[in-house]
Amino acid sequence: MKAFDHVTAASTREAVELLSSAAPDGARLIAGGTDLLTLMKADLIAPPRLIDLKPASELRYLRFDDAGALHIGALTTLADLERHPEVAQRLPVLPQSVRDAATPQLRALATVGGNLLQRPRCWYYRGDALCWLKGGSACFARDGQNKYHAILDHSPCVAVHPSDLAPALLALDAELVIHGPGGARVLPVESFFAAPTDQERVEYRLAADEVLAEITVPRQPEGARGAYLKVMDRQAWAFALVSAAAQVALRDGRIEHVRLVLGGVANVPQRIRAVEDLLTGQELTPKLAEQAAERAVAGAKPLAHNAYKVPLARELARRALLAATGLMV
Ligand SMILES: Cc1cc2nc3c(=O)[nH]c(=O)nc-3n(C[C@H](O)[C@H](O)[C@H](O)COP(=O)(O)OP(=O)(O)OC[C@H]3O[C@@H](n4cnc5c(N)ncnc54)[C@H](O)[C@@H]3O)c2cc1C
Ligand code: SF4
Repeated sequence: MKAFDHVTAASTREAVELLSSAAPDGARLIAGGTDLLTLMKADLIAPPRLIDLKPASELRYLRFDDAGALHIGALTTLADLERHPEVAQRLPVLPQSVRDAATPQLRALATVGGNLLQRPRCWYYRGDALCWLKGGSACFARDGQNKYHAILDHSPCVAVHPSDLAPALLALDAELVIHGPGGARVLPVESFFAAPTDQERVEYRLAADEVLAEITVPRQPEGARGAYLKVMDRQAWAFALVSAAAQVALRDGRIEHVRLVLGGVANVPQRIRAVEDLLTGQELTPKLAEQAAERAVAGAKPLAHNAYKVPLARELARRALLAATGLMV
C-alpha cells in the first residue's frame, strides 16, 4: 500500500471542504474502511489523503419523521439498521437485506453509505489484470471466468453490483441526499446507480467532491409489506449470487403498488417494471406470480458459466412476490 496522509472531518461541511480543496484524485473519504482499505491494499487505488468521516457523528442516525419517512444517516452501520426495532416492524425489507451481508464483525463497521459505494467483486477487477473497468480495453470476464457475473448486459463490463442494501432501497423508492460545494441535491437511488460507461467507469454517479449524507425512505403506501431473499453459494460470508427485493401493497385483495428489484444480475440493481405493469390491479395468485417471475428474466442473456442464474432469479422473484403478499413465508 502506498503512503497516505490521514485527516478527520468532524462534519459533513468539513468533509466537503476538505474534498473540494484537494487536487483531482487527491483525497478519498473513509467510513468503515471495509472496502476502501481492501482496494488500497491491492493497489487498485492510491489516494494520497484519506479523510476520515467517522468523527462526523451527525451522520449516524436512524429516525422516522412525523410524515412516516425514514431518515438514515450515511454513517449508520449495517448492524444499526439490522437491529432497529421500529425499522424491523415498519420496513422489514431493510433488516432482511443486511442480515446476511458479510459477517457480524463487518456489519458492525460497515456503513450504509459505504455499502452503496463499494466496488464490484469481479476477480479480474480485484486482481492485477487491467480490465476495462480499471481503464483497460477489454473485459476479461465476458469470455473468461464469469460464474458470478451478469445475465443482463448493459455495458462493456459484466460485473454485478455487490450491495444487498441497494435492491431493498430501490424497492422502497428511496432517495439520497448528497452534499457538495454548491449545496445539497436529492437523487432517487434508482438514478444514482448507473451502468459504467466509457466516460464514467463506475457504477454510481457521485462527484469526487461530494458526500453522501442521507438515505431517505418515503412513507410507504398503506399496508405495504416487503421481502428480501438472497441466494449464496454458502450459508454465510458470501455475496448474493442472485437476490430479489419486493414491496407490495394490496387494496381489497388486489395489488395497488408493487416494486420488484433483482440483485446479482447486472451492473446495478434492476427494477423490473414489466413485472410491476403486469401485476398492478391484479389479485396475486400462485399462477400469476409464476408468470411475473417468467417476465422478470425475459431479457436474460447468460454468459458461458452463469446460465444457472436465470432459473435462480426467476424462482427468487416468484418467492419474493409471494412472501411480500403474505402468500408464502
Ligand atoms: C468479506 C466481506 C464480505 C462482504 N459481504 C457483503 C455482502 O454479503 N453484502 C453486501 O452488501 N456487502 C458485503 N460486503 C461489503 C461491505 O458491506 C462493504 O465493504 C461496506 O458496506 C462498505 O462500507 P464502509 O463503511 O466500510 O465503506 P468504506 O470502505 O469506508 O468506503 C467505501 C467507499 O465509499 C466511499 N464513502 C464511504 N462513505 C461515504 C460517504 N458518506 N460519502 C461519499 N463517499 C463515501 C469511500 O470513499 C469508498 O470509496 C462484504 C465485505 C467484505 C470485506
Ligand atoms: S466484468 Fe468488469 S470488472 Fe470484471 S473483468 Fe470485466 S470489465 Fe473488469
